Amino acid sequence: METKFRQARGLRRNILVVDDEVINRELLSFMLREFYQVYTATNGQEAIEMLTAGDRVYSLVLLDLKMPVMGGIEFLQIRHQREDLKKIPVIVMTAETEAEVRSIKLGAADFIRKPYNMPEVILTRIERIIELYEDQHIIASTEEDPLTGLYTKAFFFQYIYRLEQSNADNCMDAIVMNADRFHLINELYGRSAGDDILRAMGRSVMRILMRADGIGCRSEGDTFFLYCMHQEDYDWVPDVISEELGKAGSSATQVRVRVGVYQNVRREILAEDWFDMANMACSGIRENYTRNVAYYDNALHVRALHQERLIRDLRAAIEERQLKVYYQPKYNIRGEKPRLESAEALIRWDHPQLGMIRPGEFIPLFEANGLIQRVDYYVWREVAAQIRRWKDELGIAIPVSVNVSRIDIYDPHLEENLLSLLREQKLSSADFVLEVTESACSEDDEQLISVVGSLRSKGFRIEMDDFGAGYSSLNMLTMLPIDELKMDIRFIREMSKDARSLKMVELILDIARFLEMTVVAEGVEEEPQYRLLREMGCDVIQGYYFSRPMAEDVFASFLQREISA
Ligand code: C2E
Ligand code: CA
Ligand code: CA
Repeated sequence: METKFRQARGLRRNILVVDDEVINRELLSFMLREFYQVYTATNGQEAIEMLTAGDRVYSLVLLDLKMPVMGGIEFLQIRHQREDLKKIPVIVMTAETEAEVRSIKLGAADFIRKPYNMPEVILTRIERIIELYEDQHIIASTEEDPLTGLYTKAFFFQYIYRLEQSNADNCMDAIVMNADRFHLINELYGRSAGDDILRAMGRSVMRILMRADGIGCRSEGDTFFLYCMHQEDYDWVPDVISEELGKAGSSATQVRVRVGVYQNVRREILAEDWFDMANMACSGIRENYTRNVAYYDNALHVRALHQERLIRDLRAAIEERQLKVYYQPKYNIRGEKPRLESAEALIRWDHPQLGMIRPGEFIPLFEANGLIQRVDYYVWREVAAQIRRWKDELGIAIPVSVNVSRIDIYDPHLEENLLSLLREQKLSSADFVLEVTESACSEDDEQLISVVGSLRSKGFRIEMDDFGAGYSSLNMLTMLPIDELKMDIRFIREMSKDARSLKMVELILDIARFLEMTVVAEGVEEEPQYRLLREMGCDVIQGYYFSRPMAEDVFASFLQREISA
């Protein structure tokens, strides 16, 4: 416990021991070397030279008083006149009480009695002094962010505490401001363009504060905090920001700045947490490009808690097999009558307290934090075992499509894992179809192209899911070696109401024919949709029109009926 500081921050601090007697230098070095980097000087003169050489930063000087050339008192007198030396605390080592008083008056921080027979006490004092000085130093030297002229975060919070002591009755708002994908700006346009944008954001903060009356800081990187008088709304803020960004040049106008507001801060919560709440609001609109200002509300908070819970519960879900795989049939409609061709595996979570949870509620969450890999692997394993049972028990072989997330694609063990799962169940790659969603793909993605190519060479069919929903270009289609296109569910839904969607479906069918790919339509619910798609030349259909996704036992009976029919 008493060693928290010595070891906490992982770096060794430098200490200078100034003493003319070898035995004392050795003794102190020995005591300190486990925790500090110890350097030595034999008198005050030498110490000053070392401290000002600029080759390292010293956290502390341990000073003997009686030394030849320049003694400790003289050293302290010189130090007292010099700002650069005053930053480094000094502990005086002496045997005389009188000298202690004198040295404290000259600015020594503390003293240690000779002889050194209580190492633990000495270490603790050294530690305390260093900590004290470093904290003071931080506050004194970093009041202002040099780039934007706003306060630094440490100072900002100090200021808030001070304000809160005198006027805790005002209604106040906490605001977080953040730029989207700021690291890309730095990479694309260079650091100085990035700095221009941060300065423009800083000016926006000042203008907002002029109107709303408050204080602001740059918290870190591209994140700014504001604390100001309560305002009804902040809808005017984006205009201020875009005006300031406009002044910073053309690359700046492309930057999107999001603003999260926590209104009427509650005093029983810590100030740091106000900004967490504002930040939550700010993150909530990351994907929502129609809004740049968001307000914290409790529903948001409840949702975040719910998500945290899902993350926490996932391990148990996997261990206790709460995750259930459902199967939805896919029909080939090219022939006389629809023929069952395969099925898609879709996951559900049968949570012991929360009931049945749909994937829309947890898949995007796990995609965002990488846990999706475990989910997907679980599903593949279940599906492989299931296909094996259908073969053994029913004598039916049906390929199953499994969903493959973006993170899976970039996992170097993907292929090996899939193949070994299949081997375990004595299956082959023909038993699995891999559905890769379009959003996992970006143009010119060489890794994606090579992963997909390699999987195909091992015999897997690859289907591009949700085609048309994202940004993928036709160009990518020609580069990516895939077998099937699955049109995004929205086109099918809109097709009968909206001429553009219908046109889009026609276009996709044309392209697919040209590239000799199979086209799958999902979300087909009504007979007219089915007929229309069939006329237009769609190959495969999946949707409630044929069947909803079914639990494995239901699907097994369904399979038997279907095969015998
Ligand atoms: P998806 O891969 O696009 O799956 C198709 C979704 O459309 C499924 O929703 C399915 O139940 C639904 N659907 C099928 N036919 C119809 C229809 O006629 N009408 C309507 N309204 N909906 C239909 P579900 O099961 O809720 O899954 C949602 C998404 O969750 C999936 O979209 C997929 O992206 C993801 N997902 C499901 N299981 C897994 C999995 O094991 N791994 C991964 N990575 N994602 C999964
Ligand atoms: Ca899918
Ligand atoms: Ca889909």
